[in-house]
Amino acid sequence: MTGRFAGRHVIVTGGGRGIGRATALAFAAEGAEVLVLGRTVADLEETVRQVSDAGGVAWLAKCDVSDEAQAEDAVRAAAERWERIDVLINNAGIDDDTPFLEIDRARWRAIIDTNLTGAFLMAQAVARRMAATGGGVILHTASIDASGGDGPYAAYNASKAGLLGLNRTMALELAALGIRSNCVSPGFTHTAMTEQAVGPKLLDYLNGSFARVPMKRLVRTDEVAQAFLFLASDQASAITGIDLRVDAGLTANWYILETLPDG
Ligand code: NDP
Repeated sequence: MTGRFAGRHVIVTGGGRGIGRATALAFAAEGAEVLVLGRTVADLEETVRQVSDAGGVAWLAKCDVSDEAQAEDAVRAAAERWERIDVLINNAGIDDDTPFLEIDRARWRAIIDTNLTGAFLMAQAVARRMAATGGGVILHTASIDASGGDGPYAAYNASKAGLLGLNRTMALELAALGIRSNCVSPGFTHTAMTEQAVGPKLLDYLNGSFARVPMKRLVRTDEVAQAFLFLASDQASAITGIDLRVDAGLTANWYILETLPDG
């Protein structure tokens, strides 16, 4: 297959649904061989089937990224099959809307362990291989919630803000090894989960006249995937340590004037 990523090897965590599946499809469409990781094998199989139906190559491994041994096993499997790992997309994530005063330690840890520690474990295991094979690119799915609060998401927001710090430090430490590290921060994105959560009427509003968003719509998963493609590509060869927001303009406007009472 031809394309920007022909002959390249890409790992996508959380590749069984939503943004991860769109990203796996996008890399495969540009010629990469993709390994998708997640906890639900049926979802991963569906991604592999869709990649294959589109003429691409993908395979899967069951992996809970918050488990150090499972993360290491998945990366070892990739390193055994491939001469080098070119790209890691740290996309697996879970959210939680427990009010701050009610979050217990177990719930806090579950979110941090997946969204932040999981990304660290995967990044470290992959970066060790990349360091030995001439470099690569590691990207993380952060969120606009890393830079501003929205609802009762303390653990989630903290985990995503932590990713920004991890990303910057990885960029500094790994540059000399030929490894770039960047974040993509999606805004409110149209996934199957969004559809289920809001229902058809609200979805129409969110996709047609969403007042809070300058572009008046949700972000599509394939638009997030395109940001990953660019940051992973040779065209982004001088870009490391950044957070690229893909949010239809949401965070460009403080929306102060619009929310003042009529005077
Ligand atoms: P989904 O819930 O559709 O996808 C999340 C994926 O992560 C699933 O495939 C899930 O698979 C996987 N996952 C969760 N926990 C683990 C784990 N411990 N180990 C391995 N895989 C895991 O959500 P989205 O596609 O919407 O989200 C993808 C990323 O984008 C997340 O990091 C999310 O925080 C972020 N994001 C999403 C936004 C949105 O509006 N949708 C906005 C901003 C950021 P399984 O459960 O089978 O393991």
